[in-house]
Amino acid sequence: MAASASEKRLPSAKRIRLDCFFFCTIMSVESNIVSYANDLNAQTASDRADRIAHIKLSHCVLPLATPVSDAKVLTGRQKPMTEIAFIFCEIQAQSGASGIGFGYSKRAGGPGLFAHAQEIAPAALGEDANDIAKLWTKLMWTGASMGRSGMTSQAISPFDVALWDMKAKRAGLPLAKLLGAHRDSVLCYNTSGGFLHTPLDQVLKNVEISRASGIGGIKLKVGHPDLKVDIQRVSSVRKLLGDGFPLMVDANQQWDRISATRACRALEEYDLTWIEEPLDAMDFEGHGQLAQRFDTPIATGEMLTSFNEHAQLIEAGTDFIQPDAPRVGGISPFLQIMQLADYKGRMLAPHFAMEIHLHLSAAYPRESWLEHFEWLAPLFNEQLTLKNGRMHLPNRPGLGFTLSEQALAWTRSSVEFGKRP
Ligand SMILES: [Mg+2]
Repeated sequence: MAASASEKRLPSAKRIRLDCFFFCTIMSVESNIVSYANDLNAQTASDRADRIAHIKLSHCVLPLATPVSDAKVLTGRQKPMTEIAFIFCEIQAQSGASGIGFGYSKRAGGPGLFAHAQEIAPAALGEDANDIAKLWTKLMWTGASMGRSGMTSQAISPFDVALWDMKAKRAGLPLAKLLGAHRDSVLCYNTSGGFLHTPLDQVLKNVEISRASGIGGIKLKVGHPDLKVDIQRVSSVRKLLGDGFPLMVDANQQWDRISATRACRALEEYDLTWIEEPLDAMDFEGHGQLAQRFDTPIATGEMLTSFNEHAQLIEAGTDFIQPDAPRVGGISPFLQIMQLADYKGRMLAPHFAMEIHLHLSAAYPRESWLEHFEWLAPLFNEQLTLKNGRMHLPNRPGLGFTLSEQALAWTRSSVEFGKRP
């Protein structure tokens, strides 16, 4: 190769030294690359761990604009709901990767959930944030003296959801895509317009508003002491919606087996998508029998707080299962429930927390239903898109949510563990 003009001007001894310098430099760079590649080959997964450095837990109380009543209030079991307690968990790993998750409690339980989460949080510090299964088990055993369901599992949910959010963010994918989605949008129905405390004329107005917003189905609460009142409300809403528009009812565990049988029979003619919680939530056998007996599908499962309880319900034969990720211990047990439910041919309609369940429903093999509540909207900076009866997956990595200023304003207390990286 011909020497460049600048090289030609150099005396030959100098040119040899320069050639030697470039050769050595190139060899050194090559040797570093080979050594780096060898180092990578020699690295174990443990060497690449991204340890949890910092955890922030917050107790935030969301006020409801109007006290809300379902059948449990009519029977005197509960008081009208005026607020919802949220436990937010923000986790940061050493690399700076972060995730956010939440659990919640309606009426009582918020302070207890917050206290239990604080007790188990130190067990997560220093663990690899990618080892979600190991972390879930560790957090469960840290509080296992309290049992493996109820508050114990619900207190794990904010951590588990935050870790899945972090993993999806690290991959640069919406959570549903990380899990392996079956669809980019999910059928969506509204619950908040049809509570028992709402007069029928207002229910009908709410139905019109919901339908105009692009909702795909309407759920109406039932369980009045006189079944005729329920039938009149269902009949009026069906008439307004017309044949074919998806309509569900929810009895919130109001009936015993005899009254549930009568109600299910009377409701058969309204072509309902499902009848929800006709019986006590723990009466798995009774729900299975109703599902066998009537054409209208039976749905239940929102009150269950573990994989084991859901496994019993799925075995008993209800048509729709309605798990709630924050109640069952997070996304990890929810995924196990999904696998079993699909194997057994059950339909999925998760309860509440649509910000999490949109991703999980999109990853279920069978077309599922998402429950729409606008109540949680003020907690987040980002909003979901409802169009043509379906809620659409956001294109943001992870769950796709950040906490709003309003959520911070409603935060009553927060506690931090570890050090920010
Ligand atoms: Mg319900």
